[in-house]
Amino acid sequence: MRIEIVEGDITRRDVDAIVNAANSSLLGGGGVDGAIHRAAGPELLEACRELRRVRLPGGLPVGAAVATPGFQLAARWIIHTVGPNWHAGERDPGLLASCFAESLAVAQDLGAESVAFPAISAGIYGWDRREVASIAVSTVHTAAPGSVEVVEFVLFGPEMARAFRSALREVG
Ligand code: ADP
Repeated sequence: MRIEIVEGDITRRDVDAIVNAANSSLLGGGGVDGAIHRAAGPELLEACRELRRVRLPGGLPVGAAVATPGFQLAARWIIHTVGPNWHAGERDPGLLASCFAESLAVAQDLGAESVAFPAISAGIYGWDRREVASIAVSTVHTAAPGSVEVVEFVLFGPEMARAFRSALREVG
């Protein structure tokens, strides 16, 4: 699996699947979640409501992942995962690693060859960017090979990109 670091807007990536740092309601939020809902169009919210009704009445648990179509995005699928919220005392690195591992497992089940991840939990949920970068890169680096050939980390801002580049150097 090739790992690439990209600075930019994840909603613009032409990959098979993009990962959304959602909240457990799946009904939209701020940050990257809001951007993905705006770019994918209103059908995404409908699909998320349907998921809640049919499969996830209690919401999506922290560390789990589930897919919807990408609707108006170039990406064919959106994989929604819920990062741990540092401010709410969710500080177990295993929970954050699970977001990356479970999202990748969903991508492999879909047969995706390229997947883009944001810096899950490094925004509103308050995790330190170096810790997020280290967990993200090491989890993807050690994941079992499957259909996914390329994993992009698509990051807002030079500091986040720097943290991920530095984490990549450490595993590489
Ligand atoms: P969380 O609630 O999991 O912390 P956020 O959406 O608040 O999620 O932030 C996660 C990261 O995604 C932050 O670094 C934020 O700057 C970044 N981000 C926000 N919008 C986008 C976007 N369109 N593309 C890529 N990254 C984004």
